[in-house]
Amino acid sequence: MLRRVTILGSTGSIGKNALRVIESLGEGYEVFALSAHSSVELLAEQARRYKPKYVAITNADYEKQLRELVGDLEVEVLSGAESLTEIAGLEEVDIVLTAVVGAVGLAAVLAAAKKGKRLAIANKEPLVVAGELLTSMARENGAEILPVDSEHSAVFQALQAGKREEVSRIILTSSGGPFRGMSEEEIANVTLEQALAHPVWEMGRKITVDSATMMNKALEVIEARWLFGVEVEKIEVLIHPETIVHSMVEFVDGSVVAQLGTPDMCLPIQYALTYPARVAGIAERLQLDEMSKLTFERPNLETFRAISLGFDVARTGGTAAAVFNAANEAAVGEFLAGTIKFARIVELIEDCLSRHGVKRGASVEELLEADRWARREVEESVKCKVKSVKP
Ligand code: NDP
Ligand code: MG
Repeated sequence: MLRRVTILGSTGSIGKNALRVIESLGEGYEVFALSAHSSVELLAEQARRYKPKYVAITNADYEKQLRELVGDLEVEVLSGAESLTEIAGLEEVDIVLTAVVGAVGLAAVLAAAKKGKRLAIANKEPLVVAGELLTSMARENGAEILPVDSEHSAVFQALQAGKREEVSRIILTSSGGPFRGMSEEEIANVTLEQALAHPVWEMGRKITVDSATMMNKALEVIEARWLFGVEVEKIEVLIHPETIVHSMVEFVDGSVVAQLGTPDMCLPIQYALTYPARVAGIAERLQLDEMSKLTFERPNLETFRAISLGFDVARTGGTAAAVFNAANEAAVGEFLAGTIKFARIVELIEDCLSRHGVKRGASVEELLEADRWARREVEESVKCKVKSVKP
């Protein structure tokens, strides 16, 4: 059976790997639609190589250039933010792989869930913001949600060893990021360059900064809560610098089932595409005999406050996660732009959460409003601070 795939964000780190995986899978898979925000040349190159029926450029300023670049190809060009939703909901599409960055992908994932597609989710932010709505919409419309995030793929694989009611703990592992073992004082003055130098994974800039603050793990706790429908109390985080055990599930009898592999996103991407089948893949093989040790330690929750915040937000529910995520996106944007120091990212998120009145059972519109509010708050706080330090 042919599976037609849309990739939202095909020019990013996950998107490019997903194209390599699909190419290696051969005839059973077809690249049907691709999107980029502004990497117009790369998107045109991908269109030439993979021959999708649609290409979408979400930053409409690049539409003209894209049309010129693909003028000789049989491909339909779409543009603007809504084009993401259009290519996610196309009738012919079986699998939508979400690999854009940030909550911007929310409308598109909701559209794909409504149409009963298989959603291969790398883009965790929409699941964090609207996990309850998205998972119930998927259930009602027969859409499958499969994780691409390596930890969640590991948990998904380990869960197959038992029944859901037999699970006693989900243990998410983390490399610890570039600042593992450093004190709060040492971390306060790290540079952008240091924050972008992840010890293991090569990823986009936003998630790389999230891995340095450990906000990535906080988002992953919320992601796990929705993906696997588990109580927050059953989720734990362990630091595992070797990044070989991608996560684990402990069952009621005390058995711990783990998934191991080299740190290569091609494996979880492929499994989300081929599930329930496993097929030969391009991910590098694990050589356990070349490994002297695998170590685990508890995270330092005082230095990496983001982790505790993530657990609190996961317990609170409602609009809290939308604010948590949006404040982070805005703060990381400021850090990447050089307007704030690294330590300020988590402070801004804490400020925002403390001023937010949580609403439960929120609609999409209310979640989006909470998201906009948090972004404005961060922007205002940064502006005030910048003004107040000027002579
Ligand atoms: P990248 O920054 O490498 O890629 C992001 C993609 O999204 C690009 O195609 C980019 O287009 C597009 N994009 C950027 N801004 C917008 C926008 N405003 N509207 C629509 N599209 C946009 O990110 P990653 O591939 O690293 O991460 C993608 C998602 O996957 C994130 O949510 C991340 O948390 C998650 N993830 C990533 C992992 C990894 O190993 N990289 C691992 C696990 C999860 P353009 O190139 O034109 O800017
Ligand atoms: Mg991850």
